[in-house]
Amino acid sequence: QLSKRLQLVADYLPEGANFADIGSDHAYLPCYVCIKDKEAKAIAGEVNQGPLDSAKREVASHNLEDRIQTRLGSGLSVLTEGEVQQITIAGMGGPLIRDILDEGKDKLSSVNRIIVQPNIDARSIRKWFVEYGYELIAEEILEENGHIYEVLVAQPGDPLKPYSEDQEKEQWFGPYLLRESSSVFQKKWQEELETKKYILGELEKAQKVNQAKVDQLHKEIEWLKEVVL
Ligand code: SAM
Repeated sequence: QLSKRLQLVADYLPEGANFADIGSDHAYLPCYVCIKDKEAKAIAGEVNQGPLDSAKREVASHNLEDRIQTRLGSGLSVLTEGEVQQITIAGMGGPLIRDILDEGKDKLSSVNRIIVQPNIDARSIRKWFVEYGYELIAEEILEENGHIYEVLVAQPGDPLKPYSEDQEKEQWFGPYLLRESSSVFQKKWQEELETKKYILGELEKAQKVNQAKVDQLHKEIEWLKEVVL
């Protein structure tokens, strides 16, 4: 039984996917996809030996060694150019996922879909997508075991298409998630509003006020108040 979080990532892979799952750990995601879809194949990349070993065990336990390769290395360095058509990266912070994509840009020429699930700071990935010509085509938000997760799906295309003129705000909340404004989305940003208000209060008590930080917080609190119902 796959987590809801990884299930959602898997849902955005096409039939017959040929993908790399970077930071695969136990390789649950590639195993699930390859069990369900006999045409699918995958590369499970891991930077750490321990998780790589558990990926190897999981793959072997399903007799999937012919369709899932496990490789040790950082980010997309485990791939050769043109090897895969999709990339999944789940369960890491947004800035780390962005750095993995950025450092591996030269491996992305054959990739027609990127599916990421940042635990925090999805904004940094949305910004990277805009900068490098990837169009965000879908977003999901879900709650599982007391955590709220976002899933972003992108492919080469018009990176500005999902955004209105309020791009900075939409890059923070997510253009699709903002329009949908689900109850989980509301919960996430309600909590964020409380946190930001608290931080602002603390900053304003400080002796030396960092005005740029205070201004940014005011702007974000205004946005949050517009978004939270
Ligand atoms: N993707 C799985 C999931 O979502 O359940 C595992 C997530 S786990 C929290 C993060 C994994 O990413 C760890 O196993 C870690 O070793 C791996 N990792 C961290 N940085 C990495 C990098 N630069 N390249 C490849 N793997 C990395």
